[in-house]
Amino acid sequence: MKQIISVRDLEELVRAGKDLKSLPSDALLTPSARDFLREHDGATAAALTPKPGSGPVAVRMTSKSSKSELEAFFNSPALHELKLQLCEIGRRLWQRAYVDGNGGNIAIRVGDDLALCTPTLVSKGFMKPEDMCLVDLEGNQLAGVKKRTSEILMHLQIMKKQPRAVATVHCHPQYATGFAVAGVEPPTCMVPEYEVFSSVAIAPYRTPGTPEMGKLVSDLVDKHNTILMANHGVVSWSHNNVEDAYFKMEILEAYCRTILVASQLGKPVNTMTPAQLQDLLKIKQSLGIPDPRHGLKECELCDNDGWRPGVTCAVEPREGSPAASNGTVDSQAEALVQAITNQIMNRTE
Ligand SMILES: [Zn+2]
Repeated sequence: MKQIISVRDLEELVRAGKDLKSLPSDALLTPSARDFLREHDGATAAALTPKPGSGPVAVRMTSKSSKSELEAFFNSPALHELKLQLCEIGRRLWQRAYVDGNGGNIAIRVGDDLALCTPTLVSKGFMKPEDMCLVDLEGNQLAGVKKRTSEILMHLQIMKKQPRAVATVHCHPQYATGFAVAGVEPPTCMVPEYEVFSSVAIAPYRTPGTPEMGKLVSDLVDKHNTILMANHGVVSWSHNNVEDAYFKMEILEAYCRTILVASQLGKPVNTMTPAQLQDLLKIKQSLGIPDPRHGLKECELCDNDGWRPGVTCAVEPREGSPAASNGTVDSQAEALVQAITNQIMNRTE
């Protein structure tokens, strides 16, 4: 039976002045023991990394692992499961019309400096597990037949800047993208789900796929989990899993549709009070979701000065002018209706 070595065993060896390289080469290391070894002596840890298929020990791969190890990792059951998740989330993006053509891309962190991602030039609605790609955090492709998405740098820059980001989703949902094109940050204090699960900001436009675009997005991800990219689309990250990152899209898109409808109903929209929002922010904080408003006073919340519902018909009608009744066409229609009404009235007399 193989020897199981814990971090305590290793600490005792070090205390006793023993050489960690003297460990049996087929020893099974607990994850914390492996971390200990990596910090203590990277070379020893590498030497003790089990060969692919040699046992159930979870191996922490890095971009520096050998090509055959990375290949075996890429083809392992654990990564197959994540590839299926990428296919499933892609299918949902496409079915909800959050992506168009070959647009949109998804990534999942699978190591300290490794990510699994979707390929370029494939519709997100019809991906297969074998389409997926393994990359390092610089965007170099390490495994996979298809070429990685051209927008991977943005995902990786988010992962580098925000260590809690385990998954990222990018797509072009129409309502949210409409806000991004108009440069309008969705107003707050209207719907609880949006307040609890989303933390939205707008990044300026740069050519998609460039490091500059990734930099502008990643500058925002310490306090925001959903970034509107001006004149482009949306990218979100999650500290839980890829489905949770996708949920951020559903929540944002539903919210943008809702407030667009609310703003067209001819009545001022109702908002929650700062105290009500404060309650929601407490829930948000307990869920580990970032928000720049955490810690603000109640009087600083619910500031929607930038939001002007009905801004598309903001031309003020002048009193007594034809425009006051919506222009000449409407005036003519009214006159016509009046004439017909008069005729009918005359006939019935
Ligand atoms: Zn895009």
